[in-house]
Amino acid sequence: MSMKILVINSGSSSIKYELFLMPQKAVLKKGHIDKIGEKGSLIRDHKQGLKLILEKLGYISCVGHRVVHGGEKFHSPTIINSKVIENIRALSALAPLHNPANLSGIIACKQVLKNVPQVAVFDTAFHQTLPEHAYIYGLPYDYYKKFKIRKYGFHGISHEYMLHEARRILNKPLNKINLISCHLGNGASISAIYKGSSVDTSMGFTPLEGLLMGTRCGDLDPALITYIMRLKKLRPGRIDEILNRESGLKGISGITNDMRYIKKAALKGNKRAQLALDIFVYRIRKYIGAYTAVLGNVDLLVFCGGIGENQRSVVSAISRGLFNNFKKKPKVCVIKTREELLIAEKAYDLVK
Ligand code: ADP
Repeated sequence: MSMKILVINSGSSSIKYELFLMPQKAVLKKGHIDKIGEKGSLIRDHKQGLKLILEKLGYISCVGHRVVHGGEKFHSPTIINSKVIENIRALSALAPLHNPANLSGIIACKQVLKNVPQVAVFDTAFHQTLPEHAYIYGLPYDYYKKFKIRKYGFHGISHEYMLHEARRILNKPLNKINLISCHLGNGASISAIYKGSSVDTSMGFTPLEGLLMGTRCGDLDPALITYIMRLKKLRPGRIDEILNRESGLKGISGITNDMRYIKKAALKGNKRAQLALDIFVYRIRKYIGAYTAVLGNVDLLVFCGGIGENQRSVVSAISRGLFNNFKKKPKVCVIKTREELLIAEKAYDLVK
């Protein structure tokens, strides 16, 4: 039976949507609403925004929501009921910027669409297969037991989509695929996938760990945080802001977080833009090396995300000479990520 599945990605002041006819995978409509609740905006809240979207779409069979943090509770897509809403709300402590925004979309849909089934698909769920030795930090073990402090990993929907595409490209069953997947956008992460399961990933407790990103610093010596706080007399909120919004490509170049302009500036001889680019590339190569050791044998290295899909020179710089000494070289390719489609597929499988 065909179903019209609406996929919602709800941010703090935006709703992105894509409407699919499933199982045909046809995109019927897509769009977004920005600046919800902001000064001067005509749209007060998510409920009003959603009503506007639904007016254009007609009958919907089911809604699939992207939810950033599923903690250790959610390993797979889940039909949303009041208990699930409470659990997502409780996980807001782990993702204060994302989960409340995702919940606004879910609650608005519940209010407007009443009995239409809704499914939550979690960005962390794909990484719930990480072994303990990859997800426990070198902190007192009680911190994990009491406060759930551990590596969760993000971009899971995108990395899982890469795995499904790998099956098509390699013509192998999922449980025979070893994959290194690089999602390189403004946020960037890399995953090691062994026999079809995520076994390590560069983002951590939050999406700050790992690669150098548009405005996020990625890996640091943790002692630097308290050192900088004392040095500049900063409160925790301010250091969070610096690490998340003022670092990365933007912080190093002093120009922008956008790789297009970093490259242009570097070509014109701007040394800090070149340095930002070099660090971005170097760190990804370092992770690919580490994950090659983790996997032993790599079938495929894939790139996706705004930079991965569109910036050939960056992908070439990352891949250059990587597997030169290998007897059996992995395939390297670029795949356009379609997180919304994977959400629609998962919602369809659950509700059909
Ligand atoms: P987000 O993580 O916010 O979803 P994107 O995946 O859109 O971000 O990635 C943003 C990055 O991708 C920017 O650095 C930008 O330079 C690059 N990018 C996005 N689209 C293009 C494009 N069409 N051509 C070149 N670069 C692009």
